[in-house]
Amino acid sequence: MTDYPHLLSPLDLGHTTLKNRVVMGSMHTKLEDRAKDLPKLAAYFAERADGGVGLMVTGGYAPNWRGWLLPFGSMMTKSSHARRHRIVTDAVHGSGDGDAKILMQVLHAGRYGYHPFSVGASGKKSPITPFKPRTMSAKEVDETATDFAKASALAKLAGYDGVEIMGSEGYLINQLITARTNNRTDAWGGSAEKRMRFPVEIVKRTRDLVGDDFIVQYRISLLDLVDNAQSWEETVELALKLEAEGVTILNTGIGWHEARVPTIVTSVPRAAFAWTTAKLKAEVSIPVVASNRINRPEVAEEILASGEADLISMARPLLADAEWVKKAAEDRADEIITCIACNQACLDHTFRNHRATCMLNPRSAHETELILLPTKRAKKVAVVGAGPAGLAAAVELAGRGHVVELFEASGDIGGQFKLAAKIPGKEEFVHTIRYYERMLDVRGVKVHLNRRASVDDLADFDEIVLATGVEPRIPSIPGVDHPKVVTYQQAINGAPVGTRVAVMGAGGIGFDVSEFLLHDVDESVEHWMERWGVTDPALERGGLTTKVQAPPRRTVHLLQRKTSELGKGLGKTSGWVHRATLKDSDVEMLRGVRYDKIDDDGLHITLGEGHGAETRVLDVDTIVLCTGQESVRELVEPMSGLGKPVHVIGGADVAAELDAKRAIKQATELAARG
Ligand code: NAP
Repeated sequence: MTDYPHLLSPLDLGHTTLKNRVVMGSMHTKLEDRAKDLPKLAAYFAERADGGVGLMVTGGYAPNWRGWLLPFGSMMTKSSHARRHRIVTDAVHGSGDGDAKILMQVLHAGRYGYHPFSVGASGKKSPITPFKPRTMSAKEVDETATDFAKASALAKLAGYDGVEIMGSEGYLINQLITARTNNRTDAWGGSAEKRMRFPVEIVKRTRDLVGDDFIVQYRISLLDLVDNAQSWEETVELALKLEAEGVTILNTGIGWHEARVPTIVTSVPRAAFAWTTAKLKAEVSIPVVASNRINRPEVAEEILASGEADLISMARPLLADAEWVKKAAEDRADEIITCIACNQACLDHTFRNHRATCMLNPRSAHETELILLPTKRAKKVAVVGAGPAGLAAAVELAGRGHVVELFEASGDIGGQFKLAAKIPGKEEFVHTIRYYERMLDVRGVKVHLNRRASVDDLADFDEIVLATGVEPRIPSIPGVDHPKVVTYQQAINGAPVGTRVAVMGAGGIGFDVSEFLLHDVDESVEHWMERWGVTDPALERGGLTTKVQAPPRRTVHLLQRKTSELGKGLGKTSGWVHRATLKDSDVEMLRGVRYDKIDDDGLHITLGEGHGAETRVLDVDTIVLCTGQESVRELVEPMSGLGKPVHVIGGADVAAELDAKRAIKQATELAARG
């Protein structure tokens, strides 16, 4: 008997059956954009089909070139495009039990197009793109609806099991259906009914072209989270019209990309929006998909069991682990690489126009390039340090069949992840530690805790991996040894911190520590909704209301020497959330700071240079050093004398720009070579 009976039960769609309730939501990996990358895209989806996913959705394909996301972006407009996609659909249908289904997403970016040829419902520029769109003529809107249908027919020719029509996240369809962006007075605007004609025509024309034996999934926006958005009545009216025109499944979307409410980062509670899916499900009779921040089988199962949705969409969780479904079905859920929604290697890559992958699984979207086959010559390998780099190296080397022993000086594994897990909104890092703990056991790695490895301990191994990590950098400032001063490690691990605090250094850790000092952990959906001003869309259009913030526990000053804006170096898709959180908590952000000294009066600083320079004393109880790290390399030199291969990885290799993404990738590549 499985723990996830609802999740693993089939769903009859009439002309076909989905084998389970797991949908891999659309993600643009960048492998979609060039024909030469289609074999890599095929391998990526084939691994997920092998891993048991019931239904997958590709990244977006534009129905015409004006709808590109990026210049020369992915599109489906010719039969030659369709023919090339056979490699993808054949790979999916030939993998696993041969019963995985794949949909091609049709997406017109509208004013979100990152190119000078973009078009929109109106000429209003979006706040997140530099290009002003040209207003579409009435004829062009009409032709674009037909282009959606033609792209769908080509998807059928390519062997897809259906299409997903992208009607959420603020792309063209959203732009046409809301008064926020549609001020037209022609047949496509002026009233809610005329505005929603566009998606209704798309579905009607699509169904006419593709026939009945083809899945037409529509992604509908349930919470726009922007002003002047759709009302709930309009959303329901649209859903009913789409159902009447032959939509098979309603997938759901939360928030336009320009919304100032986070919808997918780590701090968004699990299944935070399932209640909106439940509201829609009560209105329609076709299956409805829940999405956003659902990452673990028990969370998905609970949504299905409580009747809030018929299917669960997960995009990043299936990027993180292609075998997510298989592991859940085989009672191995504790072996799942749980997506922690960090966005560091997926969305942050996409927004920088790099190929998406996963911080915790660098093989993702690199299946044909990063290959970890069983070794033909097992070696005895010592890994020193059980932080992200050491853990990844130990687990992957053991996975290839090497005999691995892991040495860790402290009493438990996790390294910097242990600190991250204590930051409000980042508690989910405990699942990363759980994954590694389990896999060390599954793969038979001998773990020595509370053991600072010596040269003698390592002498008998064939190869040594040094992943000894980092220690906080102590800057040379007069008075830095004052009792008011603590390192970020000490602060996070419970050292006393007063109510007035200066946080020195505004990198990722300076921001994290500030959040840690300001607010208690409260993961409830209700609290999170209040804090970000989210409400029932039946009460307020788009579900936006006034934010209610709990008073901060401390007064915090966050400082850096650089003159650039604080937090500029944080992730593209998560940095703005951290900046907004600190701003809402009245954190004073100071840049261009010179640290003069620390004494009983507090932190003495100078702001600015030359004649305009101003000195200040921050009267604080505690100063927390978040001033970067230095590599711990005490074993590097002694080990290099032993005449055997010694590999230095992670923070021990490069402390600057220390990050888990680089550490895990470096460790996995080392394991693949070794
Ligand atoms: P970081 O980003 O390099 O920041 C270090 C900070 O210390 C900078 O603000 C730097 O700014 C300051 N600093 C450096 N040397 C100094 C010195 N000698 N005296 C005074 N100030 C000094 O590193 P981090 O914050 O320690 O984070 C490490 C890594 O962890 C990041 O690169 C990131 O990959 C990861 N991380 C990310 C996040 C996130 O994105 N939310 C959160 C946590 C950790 P100035 O030189 O301008 O003063």
